[in-house]
Amino acid sequence: MAITRKSREEIQKMRAAGRVVHAVLEHCRRICKPGVTTRQIDEEAESLIQARGARGLFRNYPTYRPGEGFPATLCISVNEEVVHGIAGDRVIRDGDVVGIDCGVEVDGWCGDAATTLMVGEVKPQVRLLCETTQHVLELAIENVRPGRKWSQVARLMQSYAEQRGYGVVRDFVGHGIGRRMHEEPKVPNFVSRDLLRNDIELREGVVLAVEPMLNLGTEKVETLDDGWTVVTLDRKPSAHYEHTIAVTADGAEVLTNGR
Ligand code: MG
Ligand code: MG
Repeated sequence: MAITRKSREEIQKMRAAGRVVHAVLEHCRRICKPGVTTRQIDEEAESLIQARGARGLFRNYPTYRPGEGFPATLCISVNEEVVHGIAGDRVIRDGDVVGIDCGVEVDGWCGDAATTLMVGEVKPQVRLLCETTQHVLELAIENVRPGRKWSQVARLMQSYAEQRGYGVVRDFVGHGIGRRMHEEPKVPNFVSRDLLRNDIELREGVVLAVEPMLNLGTEKVETLDDGWTVVTLDRKPSAHYEHTIAVTADGAEVLTNGR
């Protein structure tokens, strides 16, 4: 399994893409209010990406041929939607949790990040789901360092979530990222025999998109008839947070934090 390692200069280029992703997510945070449609959020994101001289990585994924593939700029996944929700006429309501995932390319290098926005009065148990998922991402970032294997980090993420009763989504995982959005390796948020057989050596210059997805109920998910939108099988809420991170000499550097 070929995992490419990025130079200092290449990581700086990825940070430029990461800055645009961060700006888009922050803009979405400001405009995601009750009454707004997911399409309005998506259109504003597209304008911002273009104004920053970047290119969105989701529309027409995976072929990037016009009229094919994913039909929107962002993935917007509301409540029971886990990932890959398609913007449309859905109106955001008070109490919704809105997952926003954004990937862009700048000068041939990619950045990918996601957050789950809590709109208005979110039920305490759903708020805790979001906060826990964000914490699981932070836990991963704090524990990445050269010499470790990813399974050690994944085990921490999985046990933190499962000890608190959340479902850790198995069907979707993080990924290597660089010149392309999806590179080797697959980066699961849980430990499997497959991961232990093909563990990821965390070496300086490895760049990963780490993206825990936690469900309030079952970890099981299904894809709707639109071919994209992934929802929880029990239709209980889900949360998703993601950062693009580079392994450095002494830990991890977050490339999508706006710095
Ligand atoms: Mg993403
Ligand atoms: Mg990703």
